[in-house]
Amino acid sequence: MTQSQDFRTRFAPSPTGYLHLGHARSAYEAFSAADREQGTCFLRIEDIDQTRCRPEFEAAIFEDLAWLGFSWPQPVRRQSDHFDSYEKALKRLDDMGLVYRCFLTRRELEAELEARGIETSPAGERPYPGPRAAMSADELQSRIGKGEAFAWRLSLDRARDYLGDAFHTLMFVEEGYLEYRKTTEEKAHPDWLGDVVLARKDSPTSYHLAVCHDDNLQQISHVIRGADLYHATHIHVLIQALMGWPTPVYTHHELVLDDQQNKLSKSRGSETLRKLREDGVRPETLIARWAG
Ligand code: GLU
Repeated sequence: MTQSQDFRTRFAPSPTGYLHLGHARSAYEAFSAADREQGTCFLRIEDIDQTRCRPEFEAAIFEDLAWLGFSWPQPVRRQSDHFDSYEKALKRLDDMGLVYRCFLTRRELEAELEARGIETSPAGERPYPGPRAAMSADELQSRIGKGEAFAWRLSLDRARDYLGDAFHTLMFVEEGYLEYRKTTEEKAHPDWLGDVVLARKDSPTSYHLAVCHDDNLQQISHVIRGADLYHATHIHVLIQALMGWPTPVYTHHELVLDDQQNKLSKSRGSETLRKLREDGVRPETLIARWAG
């Protein structure tokens, strides 16, 4: 069977714990779509958070996915091997005047959002709308000189000026979120997320920057991931427009929930794929829940 060069997707787990059923579902959706479309599904290791990622979790990802019956092209991209690329992307945004250093601590940020009466957006968070006034060059230099911690934030105000009318017509094609496997064109609302963090003083990239960078680099035509990442797309579309990167087609599939209707999570101690495997569960049995 010839492979389609056009359909390229990816499964992009973070090795911060063992994979659970939610990951299996995402992997299934991505790998089976690539099969159906005769395309390619890449595996990408999103390990930018070096304090939480561990090599044994990465090794377990390969093992668990192989157990599920999936295979992927080599070499596998591991984000921690490419911090310099993300730094370059950030530098480009800085050169374009679109990012700024934000020195607010978590507590100061909360107080600021409170004081300004910022309400929770449809993304489920209170978006930071940016500083009321730009910091003076003197204060900036002094705080940098003192070695204070800061986050690099994307300025929505400057992005709006930079893109002009195009800012207001940002959109993406969604093939899953509102109604599963139904195609809709959605207007992007970056303001739901506000001035997001793209990097920090001591960490060269955030999820938002690295994921957009890599989806572009790997020429991902279709992003297939859980509905919990749907709102992030609204900022990804903006980053893509600013960087001149194409916007893939998105599918945000429904999440696997536990008996209490909670999203599965590593921190909640959701049952891992290795535990299911040890208990004798067959991969076909897991996948049969979602197939068809
Ligand atoms: N690394 C992200 C996660 O594990 C997924 C990123 C994506 O699919 O865009 O939640």
